[in-house]
Amino acid sequence: MLVSAVRPLGRPAPRATCGHYDRDVPDCLFCGIAAGQIPATIVLEGKRTIAFRDINPQAPTHVLVVTRDHYPDAAALAAAGGGLLDELVGTAREVAVAEGIEPTGYRLVFNTGRDAQQTVGHVHVHVLGGRPMTWPPG
Ligand code: AMP
Ligand code: ZN
Repeated sequence: MLVSAVRPLGRPAPRATCGHYDRDVPDCLFCGIAAGQIPATIVLEGKRTIAFRDINPQAPTHVLVVTRDHYPDAAALAAAGGGLLDELVGTAREVAVAEGIEPTGYRLVFNTGRDAQQTVGHVHVHVLGGRPMTWPPG
């Protein structure tokens, strides 16, 4: 059972305790991009999320959506609560609409951990589209 989903109304979500929730983590590439310290091609900016083009695109549209605050991966973001994971996916959809790929479909990917080849330890969802995708992924 997902205990965290049934907290009383009006109470803030508890923060997870793995210690990665600083606003700007030194040496984190995506914290640097979110803070405007490292250049990127920004596609959309939200209050708590930001979307920018992947430097090594794997499809005609390949955009990364990240939280402005640092969370190591999607599971940590989900555990933190507060609706930010929903917002991240909502921003991903906005990107798909803005890029014109929403009607034909797009793929959202959260690489999580070593076997999935997560290379940047700051939660990000890949928005991929603009061509038919294959399955399974490599
Ligand atoms: P992942 O392998 O899921 O951790 O994804 C990290 C992604 O970040 C890869 O697709 C990289 O191409 C992308 N990436 C790395 N450095 C940059 C950068 N400076 N600007 C934009 N995307 C980047
Ligand atoms: Zn970070």
